[in-house]
Amino acid sequence: YKITSDEIRTIFLEYFQKHNHKKISESSVIPENDPTLLFINSGMAPLKNYFTGEEVPPASNLCNIQPCIRTIDIDDIGDRHHLTSFEMLGSWSFNNYFKEDAIKLAFELLTEGFKIPKEKLYATVFMGSKELNLEPDTESIEIWQKVGMDRSHIVPQPFEDNFWGPTAETGPCGPCTEVFYDTGEEFGEAYVEGGVFDTKKRYIEIWNAGVFMQLNKLADGTYEPLKFKSVDTGAGLERLTMTLNKLNSVYEIDSLRPIVEIIKKQCASLNPDSDIPEQKINILSDHLRTVTILLAAGAVPSNTGRGYVPRKLIRKCCTILAKYKMDNFNFQEVLDRVIEHYKKYYSHFETNRKQIHDVFNKEVESYSAVLKDGTARIEKMCEGKTTISGKDAFVLVTSYGLPFDFIQDYAAEHGMTIDKEEYDNEIKHHKEISKLGNNEEGGSGNSLEALKGMAANFTKTVFVGYEELSCTGH
Ligand code: ATP
Ligand code: MG
Ligand code: MG
Ligand code: MG
Repeated sequence: YKITSDEIRTIFLEYFQKHNHKKISESSVIPENDPTLLFINSGMAPLKNYFTGEEVPPASNLCNIQPCIRTIDIDDIGDRHHLTSFEMLGSWSFNNYFKEDAIKLAFELLTEGFKIPKEKLYATVFMGSKELNLEPDTESIEIWQKVGMDRSHIVPQPFEDNFWGPTAETGPCGPCTEVFYDTGEEFGEAYVEGGVFDTKKRYIEIWNAGVFMQLNKLADGTYEPLKFKSVDTGAGLERLTMTLNKLNSVYEIDSLRPIVEIIKKQCASLNPDSDIPEQKINILSDHLRTVTILLAAGAVPSNTGRGYVPRKLIRKCCTILAKYKMDNFNFQEVLDRVIEHYKKYYSHFETNRKQIHDVFNKEVESYSAVLKDGTARIEKMCEGKTTISGKDAFVLVTSYGLPFDFIQDYAAEHGMTIDKEEYDNEIKHHKEISKLGNNEEGGSGNSLEALKGMAANFTKTVFVGYEELSCTGH
């Protein structure tokens, strides 16, 4: 590695401290006093009240490293750069400096601190919205040019991409400017002014270098200026480590690669003939890492609220392993490796080691009971049939806790088909009654209420599946 993630943390924190930012400690990924949020999903989430003035920050400029969980990204896991857990390098200015200094600080840190050639960097800015009566952010374009970014590397983007927040219906929000790293032509078409800017593969977003909080969204949908302006920034540690080392994906970085390798090695020895795809290995790595973080923070798997996520992730891993006939997988080794890494930065990983293992093992055991029951049930349901009806599949998923994947595999192995259309209709119908459609995530938020509502509406077990955790898109 040219530069380790450890070095990146140090360079980031030292840089902002040198520039008069007070380092504050991180918060638990489980929000302490915020029922509107499932898990802490950004550095700003625990600091929300500083932007509105409800609370006074310990200094006008702050910085820290915040572990984040984003279940909303679950469908993207296995791509180059989305993880369900990551660490965010954050910096803030409350009622102090604004666009000019924020952009200067970001550009200097990237080009001098991390020595990224500026040719590799692109910045997106808000192009304005006539419909919403919001001005284009021409100021940021000028500042990026002034600090040294070529005009052809500054990309105006619409509301959906470059206007942040509010986290709820109303509240502080504003245009943002984000920095992307060009990973090269083998990953896609080059951006030309006015053309498509491919942020899925070639250009990887590394830093939301400034959300310029300056507006307050009102209940009638209009905006008024905030009492004071603030800056919120967040950079992904894993993405910086990936791009600075010119790696193909986050799974190759120093903190994740050992986990991937342990899983690969175990898979190879448990079933040498299996052709388990790389993508599944990556999903296992991501999910087991996130589960370890959640259990370390004290989460307990359950059918409701926050406990639903670790349960869902553990069951997903078990389903993948069962599919490739790797039932004797040694999870302990993987969890210990995750703990080894994080305990360097967060002491509760070592303190809670035993609890992490105990809770995890208990969950795996209870899931094997679910699978046993569910398999007996599915066998009975399918006797003498060639099709699994949508209604039956729905019952197996919602009342018996079988993952839909599992039912699909069962059907395939037994030469049966599933009435997927009817199943989808059942799910849709069910969502309507339980108002799952309300699971909208404002900004990058996760709604705990929606999850609670979902869980409360099922009688026994609630594994309708990933669809529900991610039904909001982004
Ligand atoms: P993307 O568009 O790639 O999903 P985002 O715009 O949702 O990212 P922000 O909310 O702006 O991300 O978060 C700030 C930074 O956190 C991003 O620039 C990125 O570096 C990092 N980040 C966001 N989501 C993830 C994720 N799922 N995995 C790893 N890093 C992430
Ligand atoms: Mg995102
Ligand atoms: Mg983005
Ligand atoms: Mg962003």
